[in-house]
Amino acid sequence: MSKDFLTFLGTAGGRVAVFRQLRYSGGMWLTLEGINILIDPGPGSLIRIFEFGFDPEDINIIVVSHRHLDHSADLNTVIEASSKSTSKPIDMLVAPNDVVFGDDPILLKYLHKGVKNFCIVDENKEFSFKDIKIRGIVKHIHSYAETFGLEISSKSKKVVYVPCGKFYERMLYTYPHGADLEILNTTFPKNSYHYKHLSAEDVKKILKVHKPKRAVITHFSPYILRENPEKIAEEIYRETSIPTVAAKDGMKLDF
Ligand SMILES: [Zn+2]
Ligand SMILES: [Zn+2]
Repeated sequence: MSKDFLTFLGTAGGRVAVFRQLRYSGGMWLTLEGINILIDPGPGSLIRIFEFGFDPEDINIIVVSHRHLDHSADLNTVIEASSKSTSKPIDMLVAPNDVVFGDDPILLKYLHKGVKNFCIVDENKEFSFKDIKIRGIVKHIHSYAETFGLEISSKSKKVVYVPCGKFYERMLYTYPHGADLEILNTTFPKNSYHYKHLSAEDVKKILKVHKPKRAVITHFSPYILRENPEKIAEEIYRETSIPTVAAKDGMKLDF
């Protein structure tokens, strides 16, 4: 029996849903072959880690898809907690350059000691820790933040994370196809050219090409929350034949 799972510490997306806390915004906890990976620690991540029964000191790897605060606000807090105030550094931080370095990084300098290995994401750059591999896939088009799609895999499982960004053709062919689980930040129900986020319409196009074994949508704005994410997930399933669920705060997916 495999013990791999993904727990949602939050499912809010974008300014309004996150900063009005219409849903939680703590990111995702992924356990693959006993390695614990915290993805996108947004506001409240440390609180949700405890609320859902995890221990920050068990975190091996933190992954940040991009520097926007709905994905990174609790990065420092969580590193402080998981590294026991830097005395027991976490194994890896996987993030774009502008999260860690540059003029205005998210990560505080004094907490660099709390991380053994800085893995700066780029297209096709791969990092590994024990049997886990994390690879940057394709640069997304997203406002004022370096953002990359990511593949996280063990010897037997492949998880694909499609973070925030405007849909463009390259996303169809650069991501690996047939993943065990694909997570898609699906912020809006319908397309609008000024959104720098995916809509449910974009997600249908993507899934028809990527063909993962199953998909989960998350990172919801008030627009998609009003239309009911479960209903939208069902529509996606009907149109693409890819089993798709809508994430809920605290939801655990075994796979
Ligand atoms: Zn976002
Ligand atoms: Zn963003």
